[in-house]
Amino acid sequence: MNTATNTRTGISLDHCTRVYGEDHLAVTALRDVSLHVAPGEFVAVMGPSGSGKSTVLNLMSGLDDPTTGTVAIGTRVMQSLSSRDRAQLRRTEIGIVFQRLNLVPQLTGIENVMLPLELEGLSARAARPAAAAALAQVGAAHLDERFPDVLSGGEQQRVAIARALVGDRRVILADEPTASLDSLDGEAIVRLLRGLADNGVTVVMVSHDPRWAAWADRIVTLHDGSITDETRVEASEIIGVSR
Ligand code: ADP
Ligand code: MG
Repeated sequence: MNTATNTRTGISLDHCTRVYGEDHLAVTALRDVSLHVAPGEFVAVMGPSGSGKSTVLNLMSGLDDPTTGTVAIGTRVMQSLSSRDRAQLRRTEIGIVFQRLNLVPQLTGIENVMLPLELEGLSARAARPAAAAALAQVGAAHLDERFPDVLSGGEQQRVAIARALVGDRRVILADEPTASLDSLDGEAIVRLLRGLADNGVTVVMVSHDPRWAAWADRIVTLHDGSITDETRVEASEIIGVSR
C-alpha cells in the first residue's frame, strides 16, 4: 500500500515541443507545452484526436523525447540522465496502462503482474508477494489465479493497472484506459485511479469522456499540440456528475 512515508513523485514537462518527421513532412505534435503534475495529483488530458494527448504521455513515460524542452520525474530531468539511469527510473517509478487490454493470455492474473519484476531479474518467489500486494491495492486479489480470457474488460484493466503499479511505482500514465470498457466498468476504473491518487500515486489519464475526466483534480485540454484550457475540478462541480 502507498503510505505518506514513501517518496512522492511529481512529473513535469517544461517547454516541450515534439516535431515528428522533417522538412515539408514535419508534424508538430506538441508546441511549447509546460505542465506540472504534483505528487498525488490526478490530471485528465482531453482534446480531439491528433491533438497531442498520447505524445504528452509518451514524453512523460520516457518512451519518447521532446525535440526541445525537458521532462522531469520528481527532481530528475530525463534528458540529463544516461540511457541506463533513465531506463531504471522508468522501470521503478512509472507504470503505463493502455486502452487495449494487453495482458499475456497464457499467464494468470498474478503472473501477468509479476512479469515486470521478473523482467528486471527478480525471482518468481520474490515477485509473487509484490504482485499479490499490487493486485490487492487495486481490489483484484481474487483475480490472481484467473486467466485473462475469463475476466471482464474492467477486470482485465484492473489487472493491467496492478501490473503498472507493481514494485511500488508512483506514477501511472493511462492512455484512454476506459475506451474499450462499458460505462459500468469505465466508472470502476476511473474510481480506482481516483483512489490511487488519493493514496499518493500521481495519475495522468487521457480520456475523451467528460464524465471520466470529471474525476480528476484538473482537466487539461489540448488543441493542435497546445494547451488551450486548464480547469481545476472543484468539489462543488463534481456533485452533478455522480462522483
Ligand atoms: P492524440 O493522442 O491526441 O490523438 P497524438 O499525440 O497521437 O494525438 O498525435 C499528435 C500528432 O502527431 C498527430 O498529428 C499525429 O498524426 C502525429 N504523430 C504522432 N506520432 C507520430 C509519429 N510517430 N510519426 C509522425 N507523426 C506522429
Ligand atoms: Mg492518442
